[in-house]
Amino acid sequence: MINHWVRQNFAAGDIVFKEGDMGHDAYLIERGCINITINRDGEERVVASLREGEMFGEIALIDQMTRTASAIAIEATTLIPITRDLMVSKLKQSDSLLSHMLEVVVDRYRDAMDNHAPRAPELTGPRETGMHNLRDYAVNQLKMAQSLSDALERDEFLLYYQPVVYLQDGRLAGFEALIRWNQPDMGFVSPLGFIGIAEDTGLIVPIGRWVLATAITALGQFQKTMDAQHPGNAGLFMSINVSARQLQELGEVSEIAALIRDSGVDPRRIKLEITESALIDNPEMAALSLHKLKELGLLLAIDDFGTGYSSLSYLGQFPLDTLKIDQSFVATMREKNASLRITRAIAGMALDLEMNCIAEGIEHASDIEALLTMGCEFGQGYHFSKPLSEAQAQEFIKRRAVPVSGANPSG
Ligand code: C2E
Ligand code: CA
Ligand code: CA
Repeated sequence: MINHWVRQNFAAGDIVFKEGDMGHDAYLIERGCINITINRDGEERVVASLREGEMFGEIALIDQMTRTASAIAIEATTLIPITRDLMVSKLKQSDSLLSHMLEVVVDRYRDAMDNHAPRAPELTGPRETGMHNLRDYAVNQLKMAQSLSDALERDEFLLYYQPVVYLQDGRLAGFEALIRWNQPDMGFVSPLGFIGIAEDTGLIVPIGRWVLATAITALGQFQKTMDAQHPGNAGLFMSINVSARQLQELGEVSEIAALIRDSGVDPRRIKLEITESALIDNPEMAALSLHKLKELGLLLAIDDFGTGYSSLSYLGQFPLDTLKIDQSFVATMREKNASLRITRAIAGMALDLEMNCIAEGIEHASDIEALLTMGCEFGQGYHFSKPLSEAQAQEFIKRRAVPVSGANPSG
């Protein structure tokens, strides 16, 4: 990782940057003094004298245009540069509305400067394009949030269902419901591209409600097909992803209890998947919600296990049924010994804690044997099936609900 905090030392008279240079860094003065000067009619005029703790160069850093002034050390000075990469990564982690506001403020500042002291055109550098263009990024995020808020009403979401199988014989055990957004201009948008925005804006709450209702209804339909095709089957489960923001609300249980009652589906067939990081963000609240949901009879799974740096002592506080081993370990198990060992350790821990275990991201048949030896009961991944539309899932139930590990594997 780049160290963004490498100090730079300047002697009296050293130029930090000149008017017209491209702005890549802002600077924090740790020690010393900096004069900010502008050149008017061939004469350098000091417009500010800055000392310890003050910052300069931030405007050009943000909008990636040329410097509108020069900075000169007037005594021995130490600066902490704040790089553009750091700024970009901070902005991307921040709220899209806030980063857009920042862009607008910078624009207004530039306009005000232009009105008061018109800049020569050659001082105006080209704007950056592509991924690093913060303005495009912020506007894009805002547009996305806007169209996301209409998407529910416009019926643009749908669920896909990825089969989860018994590793022992490939029999279908259940599905994981995965949301898709069919956006009229952009086409299918991956949940990785919008779940974060939905969480930031709070839209995840109504979207999550829709996911729950839709997935529970689908489970009822899938179980009907299962019963018709394979009488006496063990029953399918439906895994539903729940984000941190939804957990508290779900803990109030009346809504989900009503959903389950109305659907007639057995609550012991509905599995809520909560990521490890959602649990450790607020463990007390999470434990409270999970215990209430457990009382309703629901199954609970911890998702992406191994990626959230949780303290293992938390695990015992949560009434969990299933541990999902993150696909980053499973996918690299064959070539990386460390992944293999981590997968084995996680599977062993699940057994010790009397949970069952689902390995995610299985893409190769050769992984199945290893996972079975580790005591992992369930698997999910492209090797068995990609996520399927509701109609395709119905077909899958008809074809694959019986053991497939024998002489005639299909699909
Ligand atoms: P996740 O819960 O870990 O879901 C598994 C993701 O891995 C899915 O991506 C799935 O399509 C993908 N996957 C499954 N098998 C394989 C494989 O063998 N190889 C590879 N490379 N990938 C595989 P997807 O559908 O894009 O979902 C991404 C994430 O979005 C999910 O990760 C979940 O965190 C979130 N998400 C999806 N649907 C919902 C939802 O309804 N609500 C919430 N809150 N989050 C959701
Ligand atoms: Ca999941
Ligand atoms: Ca996962």
